[in-house]
Amino acid sequence: MTQAPGLPAETDFPPSRQAALDRLAGFAPRSGRPYELGRNTDPGPGRPGAVSRLSPYVSRRLITEQEIVTTVLAHHRFETAEKYVQEVLWRTYWKGWLQMRPFVWTRYLETLDDSRSRLVDARALTDAERGATGIAGFDDWALELVRTGYLHNHARMWFASIWIFTLGLPWALGADFFLRHLIDADAASNTLSWRWVAGLQTPGKTYLATTANIERHTEGRFAPGGLARVAVPLTEPPVGAARPLVPLPRPDLRQPFLLLVTPEDLSPESLLPDGAAIQGAVVAADPALSWGEAGRRFTQVAADDAVTRAAGHFGCPVNRMDRLTAADLAAAAQAAGVHHILTAFAPVGPTAQALAQLAPELVRAGITLTPVRRDWDEAFWPGATKGFFAFKGRIPGVLDHLGIS
Ligand SMILES: Cc1cc2nc3c(=O)[nH]c(=O)nc-3n(C[C@H](O)[C@H](O)[C@H](O)COP(=O)(O)OP(=O)(O)OC[C@H]3O[C@@H](n4cnc5c(N)ncnc54)[C@H](O)[C@@H]3O)c2cc1C
Repeated sequence: MTQAPGLPAETDFPPSRQAALDRLAGFAPRSGRPYELGRNTDPGPGRPGAVSRLSPYVSRRLITEQEIVTTVLAHHRFETAEKYVQEVLWRTYWKGWLQMRPFVWTRYLETLDDSRSRLVDARALTDAERGATGIAGFDDWALELVRTGYLHNHARMWFASIWIFTLGLPWALGADFFLRHLIDADAASNTLSWRWVAGLQTPGKTYLATTANIERHTEGRFAPGGLARVAVPLTEPPVGAARPLVPLPRPDLRQPFLLLVTPEDLSPESLLPDGAAIQGAVVAADPALSWGEAGRRFTQVAADDAVTRAAGHFGCPVNRMDRLTAADLAAAAQAAGVHHILTAFAPVGPTAQALAQLAPELVRAGITLTPVRRDWDEAFWPGATKGFFAFKGRIPGVLDHLGIS
């Protein structure tokens, strides 16, 4: 396989929508029982497993959750593919949960700063990150993450558990290590999963990695000794109740506009209905909108892919924007002859932060920036007020409402 320069040497995630569609087409027939039975097994890098490995694509929305679920349900009855559909909906759940509690992200960033400044044993952190702790499996996953930009879900759980409870390292530094190396790095899925392992997300309930479980689900590749035998939950001040989502008025798509495409949603062709008065588009490939080198490189190549697709789909000028600034956006709007910019709603994370920072300057330039939320998020996110158990009970009804069954 030809590898895009800058991506980890052993990654197998070509950064294009076509690669995502091909992967989904290959996986969909296996998304029923084979997924359910095999999804907890991590056979190791380079070996075929039961999971879809679609996360880098869906995290940048080169392919959407709706497309994935629709394709899977074209192959199977809901009951057959229920486990896979639920896993896809974990992502949606985490996104909605964090969107209604954005202060949990801010708290993570503060905890990260705090953990860095208070770190007593810098060597322990370095050893963990470079896979030099001597713990079988853990060291291999640290190296695999850096080499490939990906880890199996079970390996992420074991790794986070050992990081927190065996090595006694601050959870936020582990979450940061993941964000810097995962190609699918995502503010919601990563932060809330680390919190879940640590016992913060479901207060009092932790995830303890055990030798037997690791040995069984790595098919005997690893059987680490000396793991923590108990996982005492971390504590924090209460998170508080969810804030309702801010309702977004539907934009008037007959009014001429420029489309801003960001790394939060690189499928502009399915964002808007046909006939919208689009005059041009810009695709933001700003490195500041991603975390580590691998994620950045993946996003930049995927942004070029989005430029080509958007130009073909909309038949209007589409440009890549290497830095997302109010001045450059205003200039792009002016070149398109519009005062109105639409963009896919950016959930909690670096893109949302960047857009919030530049919005006042756009207003001063007489330009409106209007977010558009996908029907999928609009329908599912409000249900993420409590735990996943309550959320998953609503899945069939919401899919019905969206016309997917
Ligand atoms: C500590 C920790 C950190 C994580 N960090 C991230 C992250 O930064 N970005 C990220 O996308 N996922 C993260 N996950 C969730 C999960 O591990 C990955 O989404 C999954 O391993 C991706 O592989 P896959 O596409 O083969 O998954 P599959 O099993 O094939 O699942 C299909 C899709 O469902 C979604 N999904 C599956 N499981 C989960 C889950 N537990 N939580 C959220 N979404 C899920 C993903 O979008 C995935 O692509 C994390 C999990 C843990 C335990």
